[in-house]
Amino acid sequence: MSSNTSHMNPSPNALHKASHKPLDRKWRAGVLGATGLVGQRLVSLLAGHPWFELTEVAASERSSGKRYAEAVRWHLEGSIPENARDLIVKGLEPVLQCDFVFSALDSSVAGEAEEEFARAGCPVLSNSKNHRMDSDVPLLIPEVNASHLDAIAVQKRNRGYDSGFIVTNPNCSTAGLVLVLKPLADAFGLEKIFVVTLQAVSGAGYPGVATMDIQSNVIPFISGEEEKMESEPQKLLGKWDGSRFVDAGIGLSAHCNRVGVLDGHLECVSIGLKKIVSLHEVQEALRMFEVSEELAALPSALRNPIVCMDEENRPQPRRDVDAGNGMAAVVGRVRECPLLDVKLTLLSHNLVRGAAGAALLNAELLAARGFFKARVEQNQNVAEEVRR
Ligand code: NAP
Repeated sequence: MSSNTSHMNPSPNALHKASHKPLDRKWRAGVLGATGLVGQRLVSLLAGHPWFELTEVAASERSSGKRYAEAVRWHLEGSIPENARDLIVKGLEPVLQCDFVFSALDSSVAGEAEEEFARAGCPVLSNSKNHRMDSDVPLLIPEVNASHLDAIAVQKRNRGYDSGFIVTNPNCSTAGLVLVLKPLADAFGLEKIFVVTLQAVSGAGYPGVATMDIQSNVIPFISGEEEKMESEPQKLLGKWDGSRFVDAGIGLSAHCNRVGVLDGHLECVSIGLKKIVSLHEVQEALRMFEVSEELAALPSALRNPIVCMDEENRPQPRRDVDAGNGMAAVVGRVRECPLLDVKLTLLSHNLVRGAAGAALLNAELLAARGFFKARVEQNQNVAEEVRR
């Protein structure tokens, strides 16, 4: 293999591009689990979104009945968006005034609540693990497997859903890994992956890991994480054959560690390829990865979602986590691997690319492809049908 210097990709697009999509009103979005770390990111990303407006927030009994500004312990920079401050936090009954919901619920309640919303006719964009591996639920990264949306028709038939359905985004450490693997899978085929993660504390939600446990320390165990990292890429990089998902059949081994970093999961990855290729070809495949025109037109999409860095000591969570407004996977140290073929380091923002931004991008693709319908709530006159 011959080495080649890489460079920073062209500067990524702003998170909310101007939309060319003609809409006479925005789609109304609800956020379930709006008070949590992922929910807050969603509330923040929805402020000023060109296609969506936040109309409902919901959470646990601890929060419901309060104004959002009173219920939430706000963790993001800046203040709570004006459009969210005075919303009254609701419970999980599927009677919210919105056209679709994001779910950022704790997994102890997400599974059932998401099914109830879908059954009530409301599309659900879920961050939770509960339905990711269901045989009729797309686990979606638009840049990787948009064709898996064909499973929605089967899901609706299987479950008797009308206009509702569930689409999930992957686990936070899987999201960055699979985005980087995608161009390599397409160009060279993937044989084996060995990955070691260094995962941020915000990946555990709030309050998450106790300071006494993580300060000056590394915890070499995150419950269920290695299993997710070893199974979700198989579905994401596999195929929907018209009636079921067929796994990619990659050999995968993951070691997951929690480290004292606030945001951003770093991953050290060794990759075995099906074809014999040069290091230069691998670097070019990563650097040249570009999405289709359809995806590039989505407000939160990046035309080049993989950012390649030259410097030998990058990417670093503190310096690079916000690349591409948190939607990029940042790759560095692409080099030969004495055990497999090539190894690299990657970084992605666990709360944006790995959660809220991922769900938002999924919702944008669904909206652009006509999967959403304007919902008329029970307390409205059904005759006054919303027209678009
Ligand atoms: P979090 O900070 O703990 O927030 C959990 C949310 O769920 C809060 O809004 C909470 O409401 C709500 N909730 C908890 N119990 C509830 C109940 N019994 N009924 C109704 N609502 C309830 O967690 P997070 O980090 O935001 O994660 C949210 C989901 O996304 C989880 O399933 C997680 O696995 C997944 N995820 C997280 C990340 C990440 O990087 N953090 C990445 C990908 C996926 P209250 O405030 O009212 O208690």
